[in-house]
Amino acid sequence: MTVQARVEAIADKVRSGEPLDRSDGIFLYTEAPFHQVGALAHEVRTKKNGHRAYYVVKRYLNTTNVCYADCKFCSFAAHEKDPRAYRMSLETILEKACAEPNDYDELHIVGGHDPKQTSLDFWVPAVRALHERIPHVQLALFTAAEIDYMCKRARCSYEEGLRALRDAGLTSLNGGGAEILVKRVRDIVCPRKASVEEWLEVHRVAHGLGITTNCTMLYGHVESIEERIEHLLLLRGLQAETGGFKCFVPLAFHPEGNELHAYGWTGGIDDLRTIAVSRLMLDNIDHIKAYWISYGIKMAQLGLHYGADDIDGTVNNEQRIYRDAGSTTDQSTPILELRRAIEEAGFEPTRRNLLYRVLEPVS
Ligand code: SF4
Repeated sequence: MTVQARVEAIADKVRSGEPLDRSDGIFLYTEAPFHQVGALAHEVRTKKNGHRAYYVVKRYLNTTNVCYADCKFCSFAAHEKDPRAYRMSLETILEKACAEPNDYDELHIVGGHDPKQTSLDFWVPAVRALHERIPHVQLALFTAAEIDYMCKRARCSYEEGLRALRDAGLTSLNGGGAEILVKRVRDIVCPRKASVEEWLEVHRVAHGLGITTNCTMLYGHVESIEERIEHLLLLRGLQAETGGFKCFVPLAFHPEGNELHAYGWTGGIDDLRTIAVSRLMLDNIDHIKAYWISYGIKMAQLGLHYGADDIDGTVNNEQRIYRDAGSTTDQSTPILELRRAIEEAGFEPTRRNLLYRVLEPVS
């Protein structure tokens, strides 16, 4: 079959609602003409989400960078005695979260695997306190890797840990910690973190308890294209089982200050193709994010034409994970500028909450 015939066969599958298989995914990444992949992804994105491009008014806190998992791609973590190490007290977390609480809709917290903070003993009462003080703010807290760490520390099941956090006020889990869901890759880049099966199981249990989650893929380091596709297929498989993923977020590897720096920055073509292939492979996940903190606003605008329908929208300057890895994006960009960027790209800026309910625009 010629390349063009193969592209057309894949387009037919997509239009008839048939999920793409492994070889389709590899072909889209390696042989299919770039703009044709983008055009097909845009078609799917438009069918699912029209001309909307979602953003969220959100506050972001990395409450501790103390961590001993030593993931090789990480520029954020520090051991306890490192001068860079920090850990916010509960008072500081509440102060940062509750200052001008009417200014935002979602609180996003992730941090290291910190023996002194990342525990159910600390977080269950902390989540309750947050929920009591800012009940209108949806709480998107922790990654599956942090949940795995907390439950292991408490010697309880994922269900017990997640139930306690949900009952305290947790709305949703964040999608991080997935990296690449392939054992070969994890053995190299994050051998001390939750395994493939553990990461998936935390999300499975969360979905069963009515906790929605997001999912991510950290790409651009030691993984192969085949392993990226394997990752996407695992996410699609779990979504077919539970339906609990709201959004997929491709995360480009940032090389500064970590052991994998030799792999360098991802290229713009790889970033856009990854967004597009994700949109086409993950037919059962409604939303794909072009995360502007990672890509910069100009690439995020392009991402909206390559399958993404969401750009995130963090507006405080507290997202340290990408900053420590070399990102120079100004995270304090006002939300009105993000809305203008969406409009300039030709889409309708749409303020949403965690569950993608549409909210009144920011004036
Ligand atoms: S990625 Fe997370 S778990 Fe891994 S070292 Fe960094 S903070 Fe720790």
